[in-house]
Amino acid sequence: MNLKEFTNNPYLLLTPGPLTTTDTVKLAMMKDWCTWDDDYNNIVQGVREKLVQHATKKVDKYSAVLMQGSGTFSVESVIGTVLPNDGKLLVVANGVYGHRIAKISKTLGIDTVVLESGETEELDLNKLTVQLENNPDITHVAIVHCETTTGMLNPIAKVSEIVKRFNRIFIVDAMSSFGGVEMDIDSLQIDYLISSANKCIEGVPGFGFAIVKKEEFEKCKTNARSVSLDLYDQWKTMEEQNGKWRFTSPTHVVRAFAQALKELDEEGGIEKRAARYKNNQKILSEGMRRLNFEPILPEELQSPIITSFYYPKSENFNFSTFYYKLKEKGFVIYPGKVSNLDTFRIGNIGNVYQGDIESLLTAMEESCYWLKLV
Ligand SMILES: *Cc1c(COP(=O)(O)O)cnc(C)c1O
Repeated sequence: MNLKEFTNNPYLLLTPGPLTTTDTVKLAMMKDWCTWDDDYNNIVQGVREKLVQHATKKVDKYSAVLMQGSGTFSVESVIGTVLPNDGKLLVVANGVYGHRIAKISKTLGIDTVVLESGETEELDLNKLTVQLENNPDITHVAIVHCETTTGMLNPIAKVSEIVKRFNRIFIVDAMSSFGGVEMDIDSLQIDYLISSANKCIEGVPGFGFAIVKKEEFEKCKTNARSVSLDLYDQWKTMEEQNGKWRFTSPTHVVRAFAQALKELDEEGGIEKRAARYKNNQKILSEGMRRLNFEPILPEELQSPIITSFYYPKSENFNFSTFYYKLKEKGFVIYPGKVSNLDTFRIGNIGNVYQGDIESLLTAMEESCYWLKLV
């Protein structure tokens, strides 16, 4: 069997995680590694160091901890490890992923309040101020950066300014934005930032990670509500035993991730990658508008990661037929997730370039003709 058959994708994934990766990222998985040997653990240490460098210039104040599982496992490990017994979490939620944080927190028995905000409207920051003003018992605030449900980019700098004015601990689910949107977690005063291998760093799925402010995290030794998701214990083990994971680690996935980080540097770092994604999104939204597809968000709330569109008004439109027609032409898109609205989503992250988006738009146009939408 030749390697191309292994690595060639039958279609481009325009789904923001798992996403389309390079052949070289996939090929990095072709070796077997010991889970405790230094050859492997040195790779883990390199990955941890690199993640902190991508997150901030103040590298001494922060540390990266990797955790097995999909991104949600990392969210759960952060919530379950950083909130003390008498802690109280305020979750600002305007989509599925925000509500998932609240569900995790409640399931763990943590005192939780949810500040609901409309899925397609701008966040009301006054409500956040009022909540924190009236509830001194709230110790932590969590929010999603890019709410992948809609594609909305939440204003974390403004949120942080309020959270820190009231001196609370700030947790950000930056799952679908870290690596694809420029940010410095130190200037943003984020205490815990969570992301995963298979989003903007363009690795394959299998683990997530948190970038923690060491000074805060040191206080979390006895909080864990789970053994396998005890992020503090995982951190101490990695710190004290040169990158060792406590339990079997996803060795192939980590190796692929190290390759993905190398390729991020080769691309020119986060600044360059963010510019590529931004351009992809711009080409996509302009092209879709020409084909009469309406985005659900105003431009100023739209992230450069994923875009939601209303179903076309035509009664000939059927999402499933549309989906399979596009798949036949080499593109997999994402169903919608917004409550009460008929939408679908197109992600533009991964090993995806302007030319790919242009080919997608051609396939869209042909599919529209075929479905008699025009
Ligand atoms: C992808 C994603 C997650 C994690 O989802 P998993 O399916 O567990 O990997 C969490 N939050 C956001 C905003 C995401 O985009």
